[in-house]
Amino acid sequence: MTRIVHRTLNKRYPVAVGGEGVWIVDADGRRYIDASGGAAVSCLGHGHPDINAAMHAQIDKLAYAHTSFFTTEVAEELAETLAADAPDGIGHVYFVSGGSEAVEAALKMARQYFVEIGQPQRKHFIARRQSYHGNTLGALAVGGNAWRRRQFAPLLIDVEHVSPPYAYRDMQMGESPADYGQRLVAELSDTIARLGGENVIAFVAETVGGATSGALVPPVGYLKGVRELCDRHGILLILDEVMCGMGRTGTLHACEQEGVAPDLMTVAKGLGGGYQPIGAVLASGRIVDAFARGTGFFQHGHTYLGHAVACAAALAVQQVIRRDRLLDRVRVQGRALTERLVARFGQHPHVGDIRGRGLFQAIELVSDRASKQVFDPALKLHAKIKQAAMDLGLMCYPMGGTIDGRLGDHVLLAPPFIVSDDELDMIVERLGEAVDASIAGRP
Ligand code: PLP
Repeated sequence: MTRIVHRTLNKRYPVAVGGEGVWIVDADGRRYIDASGGAAVSCLGHGHPDINAAMHAQIDKLAYAHTSFFTTEVAEELAETLAADAPDGIGHVYFVSGGSEAVEAALKMARQYFVEIGQPQRKHFIARRQSYHGNTLGALAVGGNAWRRRQFAPLLIDVEHVSPPYAYRDMQMGESPADYGQRLVAELSDTIARLGGENVIAFVAETVGGATSGALVPPVGYLKGVRELCDRHGILLILDEVMCGMGRTGTLHACEQEGVAPDLMTVAKGLGGGYQPIGAVLASGRIVDAFARGTGFFQHGHTYLGHAVACAAALAVQQVIRRDRLLDRVRVQGRALTERLVARFGQHPHVGDIRGRGLFQAIELVSDRASKQVFDPALKLHAKIKQAAMDLGLMCYPMGGTIDGRLGDHVLLAPPFIVSDDELDMIVERLGEAVDASIAGRP
């Protein structure tokens, strides 16, 4: 056993020593094609010379200045860049070092906003089952993954959870996607009514579900309905785009495709593309103005927020995305990935659903297509697929059926935006092999 407390303690991890483009190389010289961008992080792949140069230049100038003393040019420029392309009205940027920190900050900002404007009675958050918002206690509390929450439940703040959009299993025969979306909105409305609209701080949701749900795309009109409902009750809408945002679905922010702007939005992963740990909360002017007119400060903060080298990396990532028109490429390669997944898995007896948007797609596995029966969670099919894929030199992101036994094992793909057609061929071919071998080998 090494000194590092790894995620899984009794497992040997290959030692990553290099990376270039969509590839990671281990100490034995084995090459792995990064079809998941780690966890939807590496949007530009590995070893990008422009990002490396930007980080070096910043280190030579200044690596770190604590934000209670200084701001930096690079942090200001990154904030300007993010604000320029932010959804309507949410052009204020609060930097953090990752996704969970972004969610924690957004929750606290939302609560402090209501204290500032004289509504301190608001204390409830509503979120969704089957969601993931991070592993710190606040983020875990709004997250709706039963397995991740279970042992920490006594420590978590009380959060109401409603149904996620999950058309594959929950849309009824004869129901249109729009009607299904309105049914979900009605459920949220009932929950708000039960708590009292004047007592709710915010509704928190991933725009496109990621880590624990497998690229769950909202039905048409659902988020617009949620937005209207929140407005009616003065409730804030927090969209968590830590995984699905920053270009991954083909627009810079996934909510653009829903025609909805939240009050607070969290981003991370693709913001810095994995070159440095960085995240941010984008906040509406209404919230920041209330702070400015009230106590004059946000009662929060971490030592490394706005870290100059992290900001330099993120700024360079965002500039390359714009310069190389990579959002267009995400849409084109997203369609190419869908075509390949449908060709390989469309008739597969154990693939029930292929879903997602842009370069954020998933397949859901079932033991029986007709009944949509999930594989027995005890088989840990997802873990077998992950290992089989690694043996074949493929990084993908499988997750298990852990929510009320309803969600089948699924495999999430989120390759770098620079992925080529040949690399997509290779990804889907290796994934097919890993899935078939894992299902065939089950006890
Ligand atoms: N929010 C969402 C939607 C995520 O997918 C994740 C991570 O997967 C997080 C928050 C937490 O981010 P981090 O792991 O950087 O703390």
